[in-house]
Amino acid sequence: MSEHHKDQSNCGLADQVEGVFGSGLGHQIEDPMGFAHSASVSSGQIPISQLVRLSDRLVEQAGAVTYVLKGGCDSRARPFLNLQVVGDLILRCDFCLAVMSYPLIVDSQLMLSQGAVPEDLDDPDAPDWIEVESVLAVNDLVEDEIVLSLPLSVRHKAGLCSERPEAVVAERDHPMAALSKWLKQ
Ligand SMILES: [Zn+2]
Repeated sequence: MSEHHKDQSNCGLADQVEGVFGSGLGHQIEDPMGFAHSASVSSGQIPISQLVRLSDRLVEQAGAVTYVLKGGCDSRARPFLNLQVVGDLILRCDFCLAVMSYPLIVDSQLMLSQGAVPEDLDDPDAPDWIEVESVLAVNDLVEDEIVLSLPLSVRHKAGLCSERPEAVVAERDHPMAALSKWLKQ
């Protein structure tokens, strides 16, 4: 269900990053700093039903999201995690209210900090930081990044909405009808 391997560029910390996953609730990474320094990679699936903070947006909780987590260090030797998540979420279109499949694609690079996260509030290009402890809860991180990536309003692409329900049509047309009536008076 989940895989864990290290690539060739590990810098001697490999022994510290073994034993990453449990199989049930909550994949974990022990020593996330070591995971980043050794450029480790892990991947797995998380059932959508376990992503509880998404539940109020979801029409169905079937299926799973697939994630790939890669460690690395940037040009300033700062450790980071690259998290990619893909999956299909079943949401409701905010315009036509029909159920729709939303292709989820998350690709986040997160700098790791063991203490307070550096604040670059004035710099819009500043990297995202997360504070990590000795164990990283992968489910929580995946859930965080999905929640952050979801737009507030999800709609079909232009022209792909189903016919709008009568109530919505009536409500939307009403102000214009009233206006044209008023103009003709
Ligand atoms: Zn729609």
